[in-house]
Amino acid sequence: MSTPENRSQWQALADTMSINGAAFIAGDYVESQSKETFDCISPIDGKVLAKVASCDEADANIAVINARETFESGVWSHLAPVKRKQIMIRFADLLDENVDELALLETLDMGKPIQYSRAVDVAGAARSIRWSGEAIDKIYDEIAPTAHNEIGMITREAVGVVAAIVPWNFPLLMACWKLGPALATGNSVILKPSEKSPLTAIRIAQIAIEAGIPKGVLNVLPGFGHTVGKALALHMDVDTLVFTGSTKIAKQLMVYAGESNMKRVWLEAGGKSPNIVFNDTPDLKKAAAAAAAAIAFNQGEVCTAGSRLLVEADVKEELIGLIAEELQSWQPGHPLDPSTTSGAVVDKQQLDNVLGYIQSGKDEGATLNFGGRQVMQESGGVYIEPTIFSDVDNKMTIAKEEIFGPVLSVITFEGMEQAIAIANDSIYGLAAGVWTADINKAHKTAKALRSGMVWINHYDGGDMTAPFGGYKQSGNGRDKSLHAFDKYTEIKATWISLD
Ligand code: NAD
Ligand code: MN
Repeated sequence: MSTPENRSQWQALADTMSINGAAFIAGDYVESQSKETFDCISPIDGKVLAKVASCDEADANIAVINARETFESGVWSHLAPVKRKQIMIRFADLLDENVDELALLETLDMGKPIQYSRAVDVAGAARSIRWSGEAIDKIYDEIAPTAHNEIGMITREAVGVVAAIVPWNFPLLMACWKLGPALATGNSVILKPSEKSPLTAIRIAQIAIEAGIPKGVLNVLPGFGHTVGKALALHMDVDTLVFTGSTKIAKQLMVYAGESNMKRVWLEAGGKSPNIVFNDTPDLKKAAAAAAAAIAFNQGEVCTAGSRLLVEADVKEELIGLIAEELQSWQPGHPLDPSTTSGAVVDKQQLDNVLGYIQSGKDEGATLNFGGRQVMQESGGVYIEPTIFSDVDNKMTIAKEEIFGPVLSVITFEGMEQAIAIANDSIYGLAAGVWTADINKAHKTAKALRSGMVWINHYDGGDMTAPFGGYKQSGNGRDKSLHAFDKYTEIKATWISLD
């Protein structure tokens, strides 16, 4: 079947597609033990897409027992890396082959434009699985420097049972940033998608089986955070918990680990990333286009969103004008229209959160320059205009808290020292942008920023080869690159005496 070319063709595909809402345990789709379900509602038009299994502690217990048995059996964990590689690459190929169906599920479920579901989410997910699989037979362990009659072996081993709890903003992509290295290193995984976006996670469980990943290696438990998520986080037989989501829940997961078995906890959490534009930026229009994309892409529901624009005072007016022009091409449209750049926000609750922040910006004295309204109400869905606030003080709520919507806070500064001070005055430290023609200023600023990623003269760069993650309350550990493998392996020192 060829890729739909317009909105009505995508809609026709959506109307004929059967959507599975079941849990996936030990290679089979199953109901939750309680038989409870919840409605999966599309933010595009408010329609119910599917009834989804609402898993809880009982399902978590069954899945963990199965994952443990599968791990111990060695069907996956003991395979030669080259064999796991071949299956992982097949898994990635199948994700690519199913790009239209997966992209459509993602768009219907969480409202992002179909063009990005295809080109960013599904393509990136496949790339993560493929890259991790390709890496696994090229990584060597170590031999310690020893005396002649000794051998010191330093080996990496799979941790065992991994629980992955992921968010709704890039549901499949965030899942695959975890699944790539987790599966490549031989673990058994229980994936808990967000209750706001369970559909692609459920679908890929079957695709993994088709690729040859043995039953019980990848299990999917849809459900709520406070039920099945909490049960996994407190489980005494989960070895490692990997998470992407909010800082609030990330902190709670550390508590759960401490209250239970001290499982390893790796967290990718929130951000309030500064995008710093110096007055010597060679191309202000390019900086404006990047700043607009940095806040409007994915409806602003991006952990690395450039949500604080720090601009040198003398170029402020010009830059804001240019960004407002750029945002004209980021106005919300129907997510199934292939030309749409900005879709629906994930649900009504998130819409209300964002509108609340816009109200707080007004109440606290910021100037609303652009946007700020809910739109397309007649659709039955939830859409919001990209929004610019200027005259923002870094102490205002809209400068401190992660909005996770298309709301840009513009803060002015004078000179590099002040830019750095404002940039670092945040509980978060995920990403930062720096725009300048001066290589000294660029590097000095980059070194001074307390953040896991710095982008110079662009925004949101990187690929599977570069680690992704944050300082401070943006989390610990890194996704992507070989650094991600640290999360999924224990290090063993084996010391041999040859006497
Ligand atoms: P969230 O923290 O509300 O939920 C994330 C996941 O945790 C969901 O699957 C949810 O069901 C689960 N959960 C909720 N309560 C739980 C509990 N008590 N125990 C166990 N699990 C629980 O976050 P969200 O709203 O889904 O996603 C938005 C957040 O994710 C933003 O803060 C964003 O910055 C962050 N994010 C971070 C990155 C990154 O890599 N740093 C990437 C994407 C999103
Ligand atoms: Mn949804």
